[in-house]
Amino acid sequence: MNTSDFRRLGHALVDWIADYREGIAELPVMSAARPRSIKDQLPRAPPSAGGTLESIAVDLSRVVLPGITHWHHPRFFAYFPSNSTLAAVLADLVCSGIGAQAMSWQTSPAATEVEEVMMDWLRQMTGLPETFTGVIQDTASTATLVAFVCARERATGYAQESEGLQGGGPPLVVYTSDQAHSSVEKAARLAGLGRANIRLIATDDAHAMRVDRLEQAIEEDRRAGRRPLAVVAAVGTTATTAVDPLSAIADVARKYEMWLHVDAALAGSAMILPECRAAWAGVEHADSLVWNPHKWLGSTFDLSAYYVRDPDHLIRVMSTSPSYLKTSVDGEVRNFRDWGIPLGRRFRALKLWFLLRDEGVSGLQARLRRDLANAAWLKDQIDRTPGWERVAPVPFQTVCVRHAPEGMTSAEADAHNLAWALRINRSGEAYLTPTVLKGRQIVRISIGAEATERSHVEALWARMKREVSLARP
Ligand code: PLP
Repeated sequence: MNTSDFRRLGHALVDWIADYREGIAELPVMSAARPRSIKDQLPRAPPSAGGTLESIAVDLSRVVLPGITHWHHPRFFAYFPSNSTLAAVLADLVCSGIGAQAMSWQTSPAATEVEEVMMDWLRQMTGLPETFTGVIQDTASTATLVAFVCARERATGYAQESEGLQGGGPPLVVYTSDQAHSSVEKAARLAGLGRANIRLIATDDAHAMRVDRLEQAIEEDRRAGRRPLAVVAAVGTTATTAVDPLSAIADVARKYEMWLHVDAALAGSAMILPECRAAWAGVEHADSLVWNPHKWLGSTFDLSAYYVRDPDHLIRVMSTSPSYLKTSVDGEVRNFRDWGIPLGRRFRALKLWFLLRDEGVSGLQARLRRDLANAAWLKDQIDRTPGWERVAPVPFQTVCVRHAPEGMTSAEADAHNLAWALRINRSGEAYLTPTVLKGRQIVRISIGAEATERSHVEALWARMKREVSLARP
């Protein structure tokens, strides 16, 4: 493709994206595609000749869009938001347009230095102390894996530099709550710690980790000759956005010389609001922490902010220095390839730079406050309507409910709640997440898509009330 074709087709595709966003509210939120229905529309073999890109917009609309669940739909209330603001979309385009590999400072100094500044801006915005240094990782899952590897290496005196975990020693144990995201368990397994050495600590009625149970589990492991390695505290769990008592957990981590990692994947965004920051009081004691600007804030996937208190340790654990990567300025600059797992890195910091220049801190704060107010409104409706039960506090933007009118057994209510949520999802009018919380079927309503206004939440609530009055099991 030459640059004049790029200009023409590029403008047409920007129009296509703008049209898509303008018309998104008319589309069914959840894709109704059946398995194979997209695949079957594509040729079995690649085109041997080029020249058919001109009609790509037609195929995007005809083949791809029916297979898309619209995360930017104003009535998207599933999972957590994954906002791709249009400013960040443009940044992504520029990132690919420049096409730089940001593995070392020298391979594109701007990519490294913009990232340093953006991570420091985010640090200031979320009220983190200057003792934290940030780096962009692709996802929270990767960041938590990095955290466990760093914890393991600190505890074993850099065992990876000799025989690794195969050199023996007591089993290393990690602790997190029974509400932790599955990525925590996955990271522990991938870090070689073994499923048998992961403790899922019981939670209280607000679904937050019980610190007495944490300490009890640590003591039991010590008595059995095992070595407590790390604890992962969640600020905003996936099911209910529960907030683990970070300060108390930090005290325990200090007492037993354990690594403290904080997973604030969703709720980190809320920390740009001073009124929310009490939720992570004690965060300054963390060894590492991750949150995802690619969720609620709007930086577009993938962009996880990973902060550490000891970057030298991170670098020692993650660095490789083959001669072809050495440069004359290595002593003066950051080489972010040594701050995580992949060697190659995209210029993802552009997405934050564009987003912040477009909305500013105050614009982002206003949007998040709007979402918090919408969640508080829905919480109030649920609390005052007979037959509805709110099954968790609402510290942020997710409301967890169960409809269980009098006379319904628990098993009937489970089936009923799954059924009404699935009916709404299949209708295409809104998209929610049914899930099981401590053995009971509940429905999560996660507010925070960029386009969601109060009217959309009101429409959802009206639909929920209508749905539950339909056929019950
Ligand atoms: N931690 C929490 C609390 C989450 O809710 C999620 C995803 O929703 C993750 C981790 C994983 O995030 P990622 O997709 O960035 O790996």
